[in-house]
Amino acid sequence: MIYFDNSSTTKPYKEVVELVARLMSEEFGNSSSLHILGIRAERILESTRKTLAETIKAEPEEIIFTSGGTESINMALKGSAAAMKRSGKHILTSPIEHDASLESLKTLSEMGFEVEYIEVDQYGHILLDDLSRKIRPDTILVNIMAVNNELGTIEPVEEAAGIIKSKNEKTVFHVDAVQAYGKIPVNVRRLNADFISFSSHKIHGPKGVGMLYMRKGARIHPLITGGGHERKLRSGTVNVPGIAGFGLAATTKISRMQKDSEICKKVRNRLLTELRNSLGNSVRVNSPEDGISNILNISFKGVKSENILHFLESKDIFVSSGSACHSRRDTTSHVLKAVGIPSEWAEGAIRFSFSGDNTEDQAKICADAIVNILKTVQKI
Ligand code: PLP
Repeated sequence: MIYFDNSSTTKPYKEVVELVARLMSEEFGNSSSLHILGIRAERILESTRKTLAETIKAEPEEIIFTSGGTESINMALKGSAAAMKRSGKHILTSPIEHDASLESLKTLSEMGFEVEYIEVDQYGHILLDDLSRKIRPDTILVNIMAVNNELGTIEPVEEAAGIIKSKNEKTVFHVDAVQAYGKIPVNVRRLNADFISFSSHKIHGPKGVGMLYMRKGARIHPLITGGGHERKLRSGTVNVPGIAGFGLAATTKISRMQKDSEICKKVRNRLLTELRNSLGNSVRVNSPEDGISNILNISFKGVKSENILHFLESKDIFVSSGSACHSRRDTTSHVLKAVGIPSEWAEGAIRFSFSGDNTEDQAKICADAIVNILKTVQKI
C-alpha cells in the first residue's frame, strides 16, 4: 500500500496504539472519581496536559482537551464570539479556512455577527495589508489557519497577530494549527494568539482527541455544559487513554519533525519531477513553492480528480481530491475557487500528503500510475 493521504488522517504510531490499549484496560477509572482509580487517571491526564503544554511553550492551565480540531475551532469561535458580543459584531477570516471554521462562522453570521473575508493571493497567502485595512474598532475576532490543508500554504500568522494586536488589543485571534502542529514549530509565546486549535489524528495519534490552547485571561462561553470538567469549559467524562495517546504521538512526531520534513521534501520533489518530465503542460502545481513539505496539490488536464483517485486506489495507492471533507461531495473545493484556479483545472486536482513513512520509490510508482491513466485517457 502507498498512503499519500496523511493530511486526511495518519496511521497511529504502534507505541501509541499499545499505550491507548493498555490504559483502556488497566487505567479505566474516571478522572473525576475520588477513589484511587480516579486519582490515577487524573495523574495521567494532568501529566499529559503538562507534556502537551510544553510542546507549544504554554502553561498546563492554558490547555483544554476536546474531541478534536473541529470541536476546538467551534469552541474558540462560537465561545469567544458569545463572550465578546457586547464589544462588537465584526469578525474577520480568511476564505480558505477548513469547514470547521467556515461553518462555525456561518452560524455566527446567522446570529447577527458580520463576517468579512481577508483577501488571499493565488497560493492562498493572506494579504496582510488587507487584514490591516479591514480591522475596525468593533472587530471582536480574527480567524486564520497556520497551514492550509489543501494547498499546504503557510500563513504569516505571527505577523498577522502583530497587526491585529497593534490595531486593537482586545480583538481575539484564533489560529487553526491542525495542519501545522508536528510539522513546523508552534510556539504560543511567539505567535501571540488567544486561541489555537489542535488535533491528534493528524500526527499519528488517536482520532476523536484534540486540544484548545486558551491564553491566560482569554474569555469563552462553554459550548458543552454538564459536570464541569476541564475548568467548567468543556464538560464530559474525559478520554484519558486517548489524551495520553495524543501526548505520546505529539512528543514522538515533534522529535521526528526535522527528519520527517526532509523525507517529505524528497518524496514531494521526486513525484513532481517525474510528473513534470512525463506530462509537461498537462500538469499544474497549485501548492506554493514555499509551502509545507508534506502537502502537494496538483491538477491534471482533462481528467476528473475522482477518476484519478479511484484508478490509483485500484493500484493500492491512496490520495485525496481536495480535502477529505469535500471528497464525497460533488462540489469544487472552496479553497481552489478562492485562489482563482480555473474550473477546468480545479476539477482535476489531487492532493498528495506525505509522512515520514513514505519513500521516493513510492513517489515513482505513483507517478508512473498517473502517467499511465493520463496517457490512456488522452488516447480516448
Ligand atoms: N482544521 C484543519 C486545517 C483540518 O485539516 C482539519 C481536518 O481535516 C480540521 C480542522 C478538523 O480536525 P478534526 O478532524 O480533528 O476535527
